[in-house]
Amino acid sequence: MNRITIIGGGITGLTAAYYLHKKLAESNIPNEITLIEAKNRLGGKIETYRKDGFTIERGPDSFLIRKQSAERLARDIGIGDKLVTNGTGKSYILVNNKLHQMPQGSFMGIPTQVKPFLYSNLFSLQGKLRAGFDFILPKCKAQEDQSLGLFFRRRFGDELVENLIEPLLSGIYAGDIDDLSLMATFPNFYQLEQKHRSLVKGLQQTMPKPNKQGKKKPSMFYSLEGGLQSLVDGLESKLDSIHVKKNTCVKKIEKSNSTYQLHLDDGTKLESDIVIVTSPFYSLKKMLGSYDFIQTYPNQKATSVANVALAFDRSAIKQDIDGTGFVVSRNSEYRITACTWTHKKWPNTTAPEDMALLRCYVGRPGDENVVEMSDEMLEKLVLHDLNKIMKIEGKPKFSVVSRWKDAMPQYSVGHKQFVDRLENELKTHLPSLYVAGSSYRGIGIPDCIDQAEQVVETIVDQMKQ
Ligand code: FAD
Repeated sequence: MNRITIIGGGITGLTAAYYLHKKLAESNIPNEITLIEAKNRLGGKIETYRKDGFTIERGPDSFLIRKQSAERLARDIGIGDKLVTNGTGKSYILVNNKLHQMPQGSFMGIPTQVKPFLYSNLFSLQGKLRAGFDFILPKCKAQEDQSLGLFFRRRFGDELVENLIEPLLSGIYAGDIDDLSLMATFPNFYQLEQKHRSLVKGLQQTMPKPNKQGKKKPSMFYSLEGGLQSLVDGLESKLDSIHVKKNTCVKKIEKSNSTYQLHLDDGTKLESDIVIVTSPFYSLKKMLGSYDFIQTYPNQKATSVANVALAFDRSAIKQDIDGTGFVVSRNSEYRITACTWTHKKWPNTTAPEDMALLRCYVGRPGDENVVEMSDEMLEKLVLHDLNKIMKIEGKPKFSVVSRWKDAMPQYSVGHKQFVDRLENELKTHLPSLYVAGSSYRGIGIPDCIDQAEQVVETIVDQMKQ
């Protein structure tokens, strides 16, 4: 009997458990799978809170449609009919304390249409001229990695980066653009530059043609009825043949001959032939504390963030804005980093009719202490910021604060080399121990699912031999 243990019950661990069991059963390979989760619930960063007809995401609120693995997983577990797409509308960017509409045709902040960019009052004349250098600058010398900031500042200048690209990319990675690795986050931009030289021209040639005037913007994201928790619940319901141990933390992993001994926090030990570690890298480092090679890896930086969901009567919002949300540039005197008008981004599924649900985000490198504030202080802080641009009357009906400490791993320059080296060293020192999840090859939900599927494929192939 092949004993396989999966450490961590977030989306990576759950996906690994589900597909592993399915694929081994299809190949008639006997197996005993255990999933160990430190908390008393599964889902990790995916957690939905439901109250008074509101569906409030504490962590992620959606996943990209373009990356197909999450949709496929939802369909595989039989909840495809619960998939919902986001409502599209105008989105904004807060620059120098003013809201500006996102220039039409910008992709991750990079202009693909010249006219809306030239007419936008997001940039000074000098800023626009500098961004135009993209058309004439040579491509950079081929190199292993560089920071996103360095790459984009060289092509477009500081203003376009600070007023548009940085707030959008930081919204995804909660990171410092001048530290984040280009090759671990958006390698396609590097390839585009190498091939087309100009990023604008490259995008114009490779992106689908923009919609004709008046045609609705296509949705880019999926969520699920009942929130993303439905994906977690759907997966959990498929794990009948798997031993699921919640409230159990793996303290130490040791290899003894060809098996692994997992030391659990209840004092017991679990023996396993194969181990998949899906918990963050810092927890892997702790569990492998007795191995010298792992000590040579520096700790991975991770940003702490929080979000505050505020429920209002729609009538309390006196000066409404037509759109689904905004991100905040660093040159604005705001502590919030972004806000989603959730009832507009996800109409019908997140708030009762006549109610509004605003979700504000705080915490970025350099401002992580904000996460330590009390719930009351955080509510006050986000309302203060919101009232600078909207008119909201009275207090919210209720608010929900979610804190995520050290939760957003930072893929610093050289991240890919770090992961390649780690995987190679694990193969040498600890064969049959695999890593997957948000610390490694992508933080988005579909990226985590892809990694889980990849590990499952490797293990199943190995077992078939
Ligand atoms: P986790 O969800 O962190 O799961 C790891 C699990 O391992 C945890 O449950 C933990 O308790 C457990 N664990 C740790 N140590 C041990 C141990 N020693 N023993 C046993 N168990 C252990 N992605 C998107 O695609 N779209 C979004 O909109 C989006 N928004 C986000 C918003 C926020 C606020 C955050 C924090 C993340 C967001 N992300 C988003 C990223 C995405 O949610 C995560 O990258 C992904 O859910 C991580 O999944 P995971 O399974 O790799 O890790």
